[in-house]
Amino acid sequence: MKKITGNLIFFVNRKCPLNCPSCSAAATPLNNKELSPLWLTEFFNRLKDLEFPGYITWTGGEPFLSFKTLKTGIELAAEAKYHSEILTGGAWFDNNPGLLKQLRAVGNFSLRISLDAEHQEKIPLRLIFALIEAALRLNVEVNFTLRSIPGREAASFYKDAIKKALPDFYRKNRGRSRWIHTIPHIGTVPEKERTPACAGAPLPASGKWQNSCRQGFRDLVIGEDGLFYPCCGLFTLSCYRRLAVGDPLKESWPVLLNKQNRKPLFRVLKEKGPYFICLELGKQLEIRSSSFNNPCDVCLALFRRYGEEVLALFDRG
Ligand code: SF4
Ligand code: SF4
Repeated sequence: MKKITGNLIFFVNRKCPLNCPSCSAAATPLNNKELSPLWLTEFFNRLKDLEFPGYITWTGGEPFLSFKTLKTGIELAAEAKYHSEILTGGAWFDNNPGLLKQLRAVGNFSLRISLDAEHQEKIPLRLIFALIEAALRLNVEVNFTLRSIPGREAASFYKDAIKKALPDFYRKNRGRSRWIHTIPHIGTVPEKERTPACAGAPLPASGKWQNSCRQGFRDLVIGEDGLFYPCCGLFTLSCYRRLAVGDPLKESWPVLLNKQNRKPLFRVLKEKGPYFICLELGKQLEIRSSSFNNPCDVCLALFRRYGEEVLALFDRG
């Protein structure tokens, strides 16, 4: 049996009406693609042939906007005794508060509410607090992912607000390691319609950004198109489909995982890092310097600016 050491991450959809400028999934209400309940049922049948730690993240876009699929997924995961965590912005709760109870009826899961600095004007805190309270009444664990953006703080703003509004909840959870994940802002803004991500300061002299890719290639990332991707950081790229490893309903796990391990582009990213590719291509990147500190910044900027050249280099072998 094939084995992975990371988690299983489903991008249930990439639709969301909120249009956050730095959405790391490039979610838009115009994208109607979503995983279907039937697709998930077939996938879970195949998942029996793969050993993994049993931890599943359901994300998007906004997974609650594909409720039938999400419900099927939570049910299938619960039957297989996997743990599900749903990453949500929470805006859906205003019009559809009953969805949480319907979901809880088919299986256990935890919620991870995304408290992004860009959500501050879009998703009112009263709604977030109402969602937390509803989840706690259903015995659903509530966690958070916080993300600041340049010039706007998220961590202290949200932590202070939770502490003030829900003091018992804050006290009981503040020491729990999974409770709050703080993630960096990565300049993932698509180039055309939004501010260019690859413009601004030159690269700093040295830093972790020169390292090899340490985050990709461990998780099993499934896009809303049902294809298997090497990491969840690539979905804002216009060429993202060309980075898909394969189709898990058509190819076996050994074939897919061998393809991922042997694909020259992925091997170079994993062993030498995206900066090595910049050097190979003789390309200099200019990056917004505010949060620039890891290889993913280089990787996304490189692909966004020179994606065709990178793919051509590795097509040649
Ligand atoms: S709420 Fe989340 S999924 Fe929706 S656009 Fe904003 S960052 Fe993207
Ligand atoms: S370095 Fe590139 S391939 Fe690796 S996790 Fe970051 S975005 Fe993904």
